[in-house]
Amino acid sequence: MKKRVKNAPITALNNGSEDLSLYSPSTKIYPRWVSGRFNQWRIACVILTQLIFYLTPWLGWNERQAVLFDLVSRKFYLFGLILLPQDFIYLAALLLCCALGLFVWTSVGGRLWCGYACPQTVYTEIFLWIETWLEGNRLARIKLDNSKISFHKLRIKTAKHSLWLIFALWTGLTFVGYFSPIRDLLTGMLTLQLGPWETFWIVFYGFATYGNAGFMREQVCKYMCPYARFQSVMFDSDTLIISYDQARGEPRHPLVKNLTPPAQGQCINCGICVQVCPTGIDIRDGLQYECIGCAACIDACDEVMDKIGSPPGLIRYTTENALAQVYAEKDISKRIFRPRVLMYGAVLLSVLTLTLGFLYKREPVKFTIVRDRNTLVREIEEGWLENTYRLQIFNSEEKSHAYFIKASGLPHLKLESDSTLPIFIPATGMEEIAIRINSPPDKLKNNTYPIYITVEAHDDHTIKTTEKTTFIAR
Ligand code: SF4
Ligand code: SF4
Repeated sequence: MKKRVKNAPITALNNGSEDLSLYSPSTKIYPRWVSGRFNQWRIACVILTQLIFYLTPWLGWNERQAVLFDLVSRKFYLFGLILLPQDFIYLAALLLCCALGLFVWTSVGGRLWCGYACPQTVYTEIFLWIETWLEGNRLARIKLDNSKISFHKLRIKTAKHSLWLIFALWTGLTFVGYFSPIRDLLTGMLTLQLGPWETFWIVFYGFATYGNAGFMREQVCKYMCPYARFQSVMFDSDTLIISYDQARGEPRHPLVKNLTPPAQGQCINCGICVQVCPTGIDIRDGLQYECIGCAACIDACDEVMDKIGSPPGLIRYTTENALAQVYAEKDISKRIFRPRVLMYGAVLLSVLTLTLGFLYKREPVKFTIVRDRNTLVREIEEGWLENTYRLQIFNSEEKSHAYFIKASGLPHLKLESDSTLPIFIPATGMEEIAIRINSPPDKLKNNTYPIYITVEAHDDHTIKTTEKTTFIAR
């Protein structure tokens, strides 16, 4: 029996004869810079997504932050929409719509999200821009990393990590700024008066960005991303993928000068498609889960094809069925109008319509009723019966209102005089009150009766809502 050596890699026995490592060593990938139409799309997506991310918390709306998920006061602001604790069902429905949208998008467009808009891709891209700017192209970066420690190397590495850290911390501040007013955060940061939790989350998110985009990079996509794992259930032979055209590319052969490229065997085995790949895979080996769909290999190969006088598209966006010539590559309708997409689309449309419909019809004032459990019914003057209720009233408008309470559903039902006073509730505020409702006993034959409580704004009679509850007679 073999003795376990301290700090040796964990191994598994294969047929009891040979050791197999359970972990593959990760080698640092130095993606080569590539230019081309898809790279331009990616740059545009990076700029657009980051403009939205960094600018949104600074937008104002009615003298407040336009988008703010205020966890402390449990109020979510999305421009004109304010979601209070009792509205979390809408938030859950909106999140469900996003998930269903991702289902539709993935089954049609494959990994387009991963390749162009996923934060991991976007921040890795930005960190790579900084790295390339300071350290040079792929070969220069490899050379620098392999060189001995020197003042030149230290200077460049310090500059790179400083820029990465500043960028990461700014990203952390922006992220936390979606949950806590960003202007206060910035002031607190500049005056060193940030609270402990805010400091923790800014540093935590900043270091997550620094670590994921600066060091982990493709490892996050390969081993940590849950979306990459469950994508396979949404993929089928009609989903958009990036594929190497085996029929056209094989058999590979090196470029022979002044030879017209043949119709087949057009891959000259230059390996540039592998050098540009941020996950370090060879797309010519077929569809692999590590491929994030960034299309860098398409741009690289198109450039090579252009140089050797061959048409572009040896590596291209396609589908498995289009490659197998089940339908023409340009027949987009075949890719979109298929049962899986129509089913996801129908569910998404239904949930979205219902959510928007309910949101549109949402009452600007809401309340919950809780009966007083200690005294269900109490006899007061002249034998009248009294029930007590606690009301939690939420004003979801950005304007304060005075509200009146009304009770109905039984003849001679009466609110106690202290329950008829106006209740002032500030904008997006909540007030909890107790009300007493009385009824003469002679008309009450049953044990319980349904009654209705209405809360109505004094200054706007269209703002009102009614809830049903029970009046207990005995
Ligand atoms: S870039 Fe194109 S030609 Fe070069 S190895 Fe890759 S597939 Fe072949
Ligand atoms: S194989 Fe091509 S598309 Fe896939 S990750 Fe690598 S470069 Fe990007």
